[in-house]
Amino acid sequence: MFNRILIANRGEIALRIIRAARELGCETVCVFSEADRDGPWLEQADHTICIGPGPSVDSYLRIDRIISAAETSHAEAIHPGYGFLAENNEFAGVCRDCNIEFIGPSPEAMALLGDKISCKRMAREAGTPVFPGSADAIEDPDEAIEVARSIGFPVIVKASAGGGGRGMRIARTDEELVDGIRTASQEAAAAFGNGAVYVEKFLEHARHIEVQCLGDSHGNSVHLYNRDCTSQRRHQKLIEEGPAPGIKDSIRDAVCVSAADLIRNAKYCGAATVEFLMDREQNFYMLEVNTRVQVEHPVTEAITGVDIVKESILVAAGEHLSVSQGDISITGHAIECRVNAEDPDRNFMPQPGLVEEFMVPGGFGIRVDTHVRSGYRIPPNYDSMIGKLIVHGRDRTEAIAKMQSAIAEFRVGPICTTLSLHRRLLAAKPFIEYDFDIHWVERLLAAPDAESSLLT
Ligand code: ADP
Repeated sequence: MFNRILIANRGEIALRIIRAARELGCETVCVFSEADRDGPWLEQADHTICIGPGPSVDSYLRIDRIISAAETSHAEAIHPGYGFLAENNEFAGVCRDCNIEFIGPSPEAMALLGDKISCKRMAREAGTPVFPGSADAIEDPDEAIEVARSIGFPVIVKASAGGGGRGMRIARTDEELVDGIRTASQEAAAAFGNGAVYVEKFLEHARHIEVQCLGDSHGNSVHLYNRDCTSQRRHQKLIEEGPAPGIKDSIRDAVCVSAADLIRNAKYCGAATVEFLMDREQNFYMLEVNTRVQVEHPVTEAITGVDIVKESILVAAGEHLSVSQGDISITGHAIECRVNAEDPDRNFMPQPGLVEEFMVPGGFGIRVDTHVRSGYRIPPNYDSMIGKLIVHGRDRTEAIAKMQSAIAEFRVGPICTTLSLHRRLLAAKPFIEYDFDIHWVERLLAAPDAESSLLT
């Protein structure tokens, strides 16, 4: 096991990693920006090093500064958390060149799964269901039209190097398709230095279902079942739950096994999530693989009892996964609500500034992962998520009731948060009946007058 690891992140995930490392008897070094000088999580780290000013390009994204912080503090490994450099294979490569263990996949596995075209190819080989569409990059508009006609419109043009929703165009006609290929390719070339695009079927009504996986460097991989993250706004997840409700066991198991096969074939070490869209007939189509720990990992920890962050550190140190597939089963149902410092009544305007009151709920089956406390000032530089509220109940109905009760107990002020929105979503008929798709929250927000008919 490592003696000391460096955490190249901030906020709740930095704290989550500190807790896991401490349990494993491992010291932590936290790098921080000047804007995070008073970050409460830093008090929990064994060592802290300032790596630059507030803007992340000058601090949390500075590979050179993070590596020199690791070298001067004698950290043997770096945990990237999520966001920032977590899916940057250049960073993983520099770590390796400097003899520092990157807690995550090899740069090769990250590149293979991070590129959408090569990931899709690997998925096909592993038997992971993918969207019908072009097998490779498309250059010739006539070829794209041929593919689109064979799978049927609407289709979506996607950039192989895409991320954050960039380089995507929906096309319903030949003309839109030709135009979409040109603009998506230009956008991707400018943003990612790679203009390769491909075409696949566009699903109008879909649920977002994802499979949590873990792999080690000895060729083992397991899945930890699935989560539903259908409640989103602008592609940002708001509520996640597990197991994904209403899916036939046989379908669920086949998809989960195929996801674990995919990451095993990629020689993947660490935590990975294979994301899918699912249509009304419960057909699954892979979206992408996230090659890092995700925000919503506590949902899976609650229902499986497996500590995903600890496992990721252990396998990076060369150990075997501590669980095999046969050991893993689901108990009850878990839900997570992301607490964002945003005002849902004013177009989700960010709410930086002083948090005067912050009192978290507690009790049986309640977990709050947060770096915030009363008196903390939220800096304007970063993501607005200030915490995650996770509940675990015997079944989904109990979990929803527990979440409503926990939200009622949660006190945050004077800043606004998304907790008020969560109350409404959890009480809405589409959520209760999981008769929803990835646009349902936006529909509800767009037509609040219709909301009463949506409420149970
Ligand atoms: P990115 O890496 O840019 O986030 P993804 O492949 O994860 O791109 O897709 C982002 C979002 O776009 C998905 O969450 C989904 O809402 C939508 N999307 C992507 N592909 C499809 C598709 N084939 N059909 C319907 N929606 C899609």
